[in-house]
Amino acid sequence: MAADERNAFEVYRDRVDRPLGRLFREYGASEAHWLVVGMAANVVARVAGLIPPVVLGVAIDAVFTGTGPYTLPVVPDAWLPTEAGAQFRLSVLLIFGSFIVTGVFTYVYGIAANNFAHRVMHAVRTDSFDQIQRLDMTFFDDKQTGEVMSVLNNDASNLEVFLDNALQNSARLGVMLAGIATVLVYYNYELAIVTLAAIPLMFLFTLWFMRAVEPRYVAQRSVVGDLNTALENALSGVELVKTSNTEAHESERVEDASFSYFKRTMSILRLNYVYRPGMELLAGLAFAATFAVGGFWLANGPPGPFTTELTVGTFVTFVLLTQQFVAPLAEVSNIIDQYENAKASCERVFGLRDIPVRIEDDDGAIELGGGTRSDGEPRNDGGVTPAGDPDHGGVAGAVEYDDVSFAYPENALVDPEDADEEVLRGVSFSAEPGDTVALVGPTGAGKSTLLKLLLRLYDVTDGAIRVDGHDVRDVTVESLRSSVGYVAQDTTLFDGTIAENIRYGRFTRIDEAGGDGLDEDAIRERVVEAAKAAEAHEFIDSLPNGYETRIGERGVKLSGGQRQRLAIARVVLQDPAILILDEATSAVDTETEMLIQRSLDRLAADRTTFVIAHRLSTVTDADTALVLEDGEVVERGTHDELLAADGLYAKLWGVQAGEIDELPEEFVERARERHVDRAVERATAESEVDSETID
Ligand code: ADP
Repeated sequence: MAADERNAFEVYRDRVDRPLGRLFREYGASEAHWLVVGMAANVVARVAGLIPPVVLGVAIDAVFTGTGPYTLPVVPDAWLPTEAGAQFRLSVLLIFGSFIVTGVFTYVYGIAANNFAHRVMHAVRTDSFDQIQRLDMTFFDDKQTGEVMSVLNNDASNLEVFLDNALQNSARLGVMLAGIATVLVYYNYELAIVTLAAIPLMFLFTLWFMRAVEPRYVAQRSVVGDLNTALENALSGVELVKTSNTEAHESERVEDASFSYFKRTMSILRLNYVYRPGMELLAGLAFAATFAVGGFWLANGPPGPFTTELTVGTFVTFVLLTQQFVAPLAEVSNIIDQYENAKASCERVFGLRDIPVRIEDDDGAIELGGGTRSDGEPRNDGGVTPAGDPDHGGVAGAVEYDDVSFAYPENALVDPEDADEEVLRGVSFSAEPGDTVALVGPTGAGKSTLLKLLLRLYDVTDGAIRVDGHDVRDVTVESLRSSVGYVAQDTTLFDGTIAENIRYGRFTRIDEAGGDGLDEDAIRERVVEAAKAAEAHEFIDSLPNGYETRIGERGVKLSGGQRQRLAIARVVLQDPAILILDEATSAVDTETEMLIQRSLDRLAADRTTFVIAHRLSTVTDADTALVLEDGEVVERGTHDELLAADGLYAKLWGVQAGEIDELPEEFVERARERHVDRAVERATAESEVDSETID
């Protein structure tokens, strides 16, 4: 994929250095005590596992063949019995006891290691989600939901498997190998050389395998991305797919992606088929060599350069211990598989984490409204401001745009300088508290963008937006957004009850501090009041469960008009000083329209209101209208003034009123010219830069 096509997520992901090390530093450190306890228990359990072969070897020599003394490593001889019967009973007891110790400490180890793994994962998951919530709209404009979901689901579970399984298995394997090697060298370092000669070979073999398999994992991951994209496209665009009859095409795309995934996976597995039996073979060779050389040794004395004595007991200990590591070594390929997956997942987790959060409270950001009402009462006064009290949490609602320019940051998360063409240029206007400002202009003129800036979904490229005299970048994001209510064209509803949907934002959770000290009944009353103000009470009341009616996912069971009235009720409850209305373009029946209009009028009455006007009748009621064309305010004034000016507004009005059929060619032509001018400007600027670099 070309560098310029890559989204922020991929760029930051590729910059992550030693991801698993970072995982342990950033998340493991605070849970390290679990890891320490786990590792200690692991060592005890593995050491206890060495006891039976050792005791068996000693017992054979001392008790059964009488060829050696009854001595145990670490234990003083004085503590040990000298009579054969007692030695046998002690051996049985030790073997029995060692299994109990192994069991108990494996249990402790499991608890501690799992606590470590799952606590780390919990922190990673919640932190990742918090980060996603803090990222600004630029991130989401790239439509990365599929990828983000996969961080929270797949990557989190890959890490979980690694921390849980791979980490435990490799720790067990490491401690076991070290323990076995120590015991072997202690009893007979010469035979130990024969047994352990396979270990360096296994190490080299593993190194070769990892080198060979790593690029195949990288290739596999890239096709996983393609597969996910193909699936997501087909599912999120299901309506388009059905109406365009492209099911076969989509199936083919998924099939292609799935088939290349299959091929990549098989190429990894083919190496695994070699590696796994290869390791088993090496472990088997170690076992066979130990058996052959040891057997020869017992029968004929030390072979070749070897000089030490070998007893039957030591030989048995060797054979048993060598047998012990055959099975776990075969697990190494699983550990590597889990490690590779975890490394990639960890890169994605930290790639997401490293995307800078741009829209955030500055140090010293102030609360819009000062946290108190204008009459000095604390701001959270417990719900909807009583009718006639023009307070809105102490925010007056004066809005000023001061020479605002804005370009959607194309790839600004990666490079802030890399901005797209400006969609707003030099926009200035001010609205007094309580004013209604209508925004008029052709599609794409920049009306929605203008208002997104007020909500600080994006930051201005140049100029400033002020609310009550404060730059929106100097106030807390929360106080700003709670002072601006937004009724969209298309209302988003959540899976939940009607009451929950109305409460969302203001009293999202009534059990928590979000209740503003109000009890459930009081909040329910506010919800009903808000619904009445939004002309929604009647239809809600007529539903089978009233306010407790569940609306399906995204509220599909309600009509557009009903959904919009719920959105209005939500904003009534929010009681913001500033209101943004995106007038619906789709027609509703006259009666519904009247209801909506009446509730909107009520809502807008004492608030600074911006309406994206699609009906020019809305403009006649506004205090002033801004006419936008191609990112600039080209006309402003009241409806009558604008009509008299006989400019773009008058033409738009004419089209709407049916007096003219379409926009005069001159407007279309002018817009086209502007685009060409700017394209030339950009090209010139670019070529200047180029020639500078050439010089
Ligand atoms: P209006 O509301 O007047 O129809 P918009 O504000 O939606 O206009 O769009 C203004 C311009 O900004 C258009 O050229 C549009 O293509 C562009 N635009 C809108 N949203 C985005 C976005 N998220 N990323 C990039 N460009 C956008």
